Formats: sequence, structure tokens, C-alpha cells
Amino acid sequence: MTAIATLGSHCSLQVLKGAKDEGLKTILVCEKKREKLYRRFPFIDELIIVDSFKEVLDAKTQKILEQSNAVLIPHGTLIAQMSSEEIESIKTPVFGNKWILRWESDRNMKEQLMREATLPMPKPIATPKDIEKLVIVKRQGAAGGKGYFMAANEDDYNAKRNQLISEGILSKDETLYIQEYAAGVLAYLQFFYSPLTGELEFFGADQRHESDIEGLGRIPAEQQLKSTKVPSFNVIGNSPLVLRESLLDEVYTMGENFVEAAKRIVAPGMNGPFCIEGVYDENAKFTSFEFSARIVAGSNIYMDGSPYYSLLFNENMSMGKRIAREIKIATEKNQLDKITT
Ligand code: AMP
Repeated sequence: MTAIATLGSHCSLQVLKGAKDEGLKTILVCEKKREKLYRRFPFIDELIIVDSFKEVLDAKTQKILEQSNAVLIPHGTLIAQMSSEEIESIKTPVFGNKWILRWESDRNMKEQLMREATLPMPKPIATPKDIEKLVIVKRQGAAGGKGYFMAANEDDYNAKRNQLISEGILSKDETLYIQEYAAGVLAYLQFFYSPLTGELEFFGADQRHESDIEGLGRIPAEQQLKSTKVPSFNVIGNSPLVLRESLLDEVYTMGENFVEAAKRIVAPGMNGPFCIEGVYDENAKFTSFEFSARIVAGSNIYMDGSPYYSLLFNENMSMGKRIAREIKIATEKNQLDKITT
């Protein structure tokens, strides 16, 4: 029997519940400090208790996973806490394409893949000197929006960067990525691509609630102007979004372009769940500032199934369950190598 394993954070509850519903064994790599939380959930068959998630790289942990024929489901916490080299060195089969996670973490590679996929992107700004319009300044990796800031010109950039360094939020030698700020309605488009069927599925859309930029919008301009704090984009939670139906065709096209681009430049391509993240402007034109090449935490809102998946499946289908279904089918057909790396 195949088991599903993941790190205890991000979307692990959804992933393991979905696996259990598909009749698979479930394993959670769990930090000691969170053991009490995760013991509350009866669908978790086995906990591997660790001091730090990096222990997933240890021979001991990998042996336990191997003995259970486990497939590891990567998510944002894996990317945030481990380097690309570390992720690539994992011996346990990783669901999807572990090589593409490097393309998610490295800003320049990310830009290259998005360009290859012809996704409309905000203009990247090479140096602070070139800032002419409002920009957003980002850190590398899946930092979850912590330490991001907006700047209107070079002086503004320097002042805010220095302030964040003095507050210990940014480090001096950190390479920051500058991009034009795109205003509009946030939309995080969640997909699943199955190399077994060759089909792209649109799962759903969500919005992120980010502190403290969102909180800032709730206070009057007079108080905003007096605030000296640099607002961050730290994700606190997500809420569902359904799109105008007239936008769906383009959504599928963007997803398909992304899958095709990934096939061309990062073998074996964009297998499994992924997310294209951006904003719709006043003309309903989408600009994409990011992608995630694995399950996103925004899919947690649809643990009981999403509106769009209810059109494709006559059962409640979460993203976690969809992943488990893919693994189950691949195992039965002896094609696990097609969906893991
Ligand atoms: P990211 O890590 O790129 O997903 O960015 C974190 C958050 O920053 C997003 O969820 C958006 O709220 C915001 N953001 C990032 N890039 C842009 C952009 N170019 N224009 C507007 N907002 C952005």
C-alpha cells in the first residue's frame, strides 16, 4: 500500500484527510511543539516527531518513509524552510516535480518561466534608481509576504529598506526583487494538471488576507499618514472567490500555457497542483505577479470540494483528495514514476 506523507503545517490537514478518504495510509512529519494539535485529528495514522522539519532529510526519517512506500506532498512550508538543493536531495518520491520548486523560489528563474508561459507580468525593475511608478519590493523564496514593502521612488525605497533592516526584518545583504505594483482585484487561480490523463483542471480561486496591508485599509487616511510602520503582506488567511464566467476561458488558457511552458523548460513539467497569482484590473485584464508550483494553502477553503470541481466530479473533491486520487490511480497502473520525482 502507498502512504501519503507531508510536513505538519500549511495544508497538511487537508492533504492527509483527502488521503485517508482515498483509503491510503497517512503520515505526518510533525514538530514536537505541534504534536498536541495534530493528535486531535484521527485521520492521521502516524506521526514522525522531529525537532525541525529539516530532519526530513535525515536517513532515519527517509527510511521510515521508504518502509511505508510514502509519497511526500510538497507545500509552502517545505519551500520556505529548505533550500532548493535540500529539496532536490530528498530520496522519498516527491509528488509532482521537485525540480520546478527551484523555479518557484528563485525570482529570476520564476520570471523566466512566467515569460515562457506568456503570462502578462508587472514590469520588473532592475535597480532602485529606475523606480518611476509605485513598486512592490519582495524577498526571495516563499516568504509569505513578510518583509515586502512598497516604494514610490529611490529615496522611499532606501528609507523603507533601512527601516526594515534596523527592525531586523530584512538583512543587509539580502537581494531584493522590485516589481511594478499592479492594482486590482486579487485572484489566486488554482489548477491541477494530470500527466496520467493529460488534462488540466481548474479547481478554484481564492483571495488572501494579508496583514498589515489589509488592516491599513480600514483606518482613515489621516491616521494612515501618521503611521510610520512599513506595512507587510504577511498572509493570515484566505477566502473564496468565484470569477465571472466570461473570464474562465482565459483562465484555462493561462493554465495550459503554463503547463506547456513547464514541459518545455523544466522536465517533467508542471504535474499536480499549481497556482497562478495576480490581479484583475478595471478592464478585467489579468496581470500575474507570481506562481506556486505545488498545492497552495488557499485550497484549504475548499476542503469539502470547490464550486468548479463540483462541475467536474460528482462527489466532494478537495485538492488533497485529488492528489491522493492521482496517486492511487498511478499506483494501480504501476505509473508512480509518471507523477513523482
Ligand atoms: P507574492 O509573494 O509575490 O505572492 O506576494 C505577496 C503579496 O504581495 C500578494 O499576495 C499581493 O497581495 C502582493 N503583491 C505581490 N506582487 C504584487 C504586484 N506586482 N502588484 C500588487 N500586489 C502585489
